[in-house]
Amino acid sequence: MNRVANLLDSHISDIARNSNSNDFTNSTEKKSSFSSEDYQELWDEACQELATALDLQLLNTWIKPLKISNLEFSGANSKETKILLTAPNKFSCAHIEKNYLPLITSTLSKLLISKVSTQISFDKDHNPLSNKTTGLEKISSTALKKKDTFSLVPEPRIHKVDDSNLNPKYNFSNFVVGSCNQFAHAVGLKVAQSLGTAFNPLFIYGGVGLGKTHLANAIGNSSKRQNKKVLLVSSENFVSELIASIRSNKMDAFKSKFRSLDLLIVDDIQFIIGKERTQEEFFHTFNELYNKHKQIIITSDKTPNELIGLEDRLKTRFASGLSVDLQSPDYETRVAIISNKAIAEKVNLPEEVARLLASSITSNVRELEGALNRLFALSSVNKVEIDSKLAQSVISSLFVNKKTKEINFELIQKVVAEHFNVSLNDLLGKRRTQNIASARHVCMYFCRKLTNYSYPEIGAYFGGRDHCTAIHAFKVVSEKINTDKSFSDDLERLENKINN
Ligand code: ADP
Ligand code: MG
Repeated sequence: MNRVANLLDSHISDIARNSNSNDFTNSTEKKSSFSSEDYQELWDEACQELATALDLQLLNTWIKPLKISNLEFSGANSKETKILLTAPNKFSCAHIEKNYLPLITSTLSKLLISKVSTQISFDKDHNPLSNKTTGLEKISSTALKKKDTFSLVPEPRIHKVDDSNLNPKYNFSNFVVGSCNQFAHAVGLKVAQSLGTAFNPLFIYGGVGLGKTHLANAIGNSSKRQNKKVLLVSSENFVSELIASIRSNKMDAFKSKFRSLDLLIVDDIQFIIGKERTQEEFFHTFNELYNKHKQIIITSDKTPNELIGLEDRLKTRFASGLSVDLQSPDYETRVAIISNKAIAEKVNLPEEVARLLASSITSNVRELEGALNRLFALSSVNKVEIDSKLAQSVISSLFVNKKTKEINFELIQKVVAEHFNVSLNDLLGKRRTQNIASARHVCMYFCRKLTNYSYPEIGAYFGGRDHCTAIHAFKVVSEKINTDKSFSDDLERLENKINN
């Protein structure tokens, strides 16, 4: 949940008390007091979300340069959020308005969990011809007209944003069950029915986009409905909250917040790797909750034992409950997921299109959803029917830049070791002859460049080194590439070898 969405709820309550007017431009009382940083944070999140539906180039060219210049509330109880966007110039303003405003509106609406309407103007400072304008009066009203509402925009549902951080959209009812996730789903239901006593901790692991966050939220939402005290936190947020609490001398508040729960969900635990103080604090939080028979759910991209760099005592604790994995969905499950999403979005999706998408996009559900959103967006923007031809064009564009080969540490190590004529043990060990050190640096460089592993994970993998070593290796190799042509040619050949 983004900060603006969280703040929004309290603003709505305050503002609802003061005003009930529908007027947009004159509503001084209803003006929000968000800072430009809040706007930027919200816009960054919106861009990330839009990246699933739009080409990267398109996103960078048209969408990212926009800014949120104002955010206000209106409607009964101020429940509608009106957002003003500013484009860098008149042309961009017209182009966005014509092609992307509905998609942007639906995305912001999703992020803020609120009904949103958007208007766009251009920034006069970028356009010397328009210096008589105030910058905001060339406002389009089309975005506010009902007929232009993007077909993806769900019926506005005003969810009470509470401090559990749960996503109200993710429930058991919209989690499609197939052989890939049947066990995890059944266990999830059981945990939700008997918090702290069935399987504790529950460790959910699997590749990206396979439903870990969805399932964890479903358990959380179900528990919340049973009036349990639930908190979902990403491990990154756990880290930043911890740092903020240490800085402001508020560790007692931090401890009591996390230790007074019925259910703590830590999403993507892998990001606490390499953060010793956080692991220490998490260890104590874990123990306290566990000893009080409170439920802990952890999601991760790997099994506890594969979390290189995680303290052993945490690994042991994580593995002491039940670990369930989510696999890539099979064909039938993919068809079912696609069809369900289309129904949820109220979009008419021909069966042959669902089948075509399901047979072409096989890796994960997030990609499947990305393709589907892109298909809906294209159909809406170009005002054409969704058919197999349109779906085929979406599928082709998705495969253009897709790396089909899985690149892992072992593959990189093998190729680099061969090239430098060193052994695998040398790469992971302590010896520091010049040749071995260079080979190790190059290995770390490729691990960072070609995989999704973080510096702490890479450092830990290479003989328990810390993240600074991995950062240093990356820097050294990058600099050498820029200054040494024959080295850079060698690395290009190695990279091709790894990729092919
Ligand atoms: P992860 O956390 O594993 O990376 P998410 O839980 O964020 O993946 O899932 C990515 C998207 O796919 C979400 O929008 C989620 O709702 C959807 N999704 C994943 N698995 C399923 C499923 N079994 N049924 C319905 N939607 C799913
Ligand atoms: Mg996730």
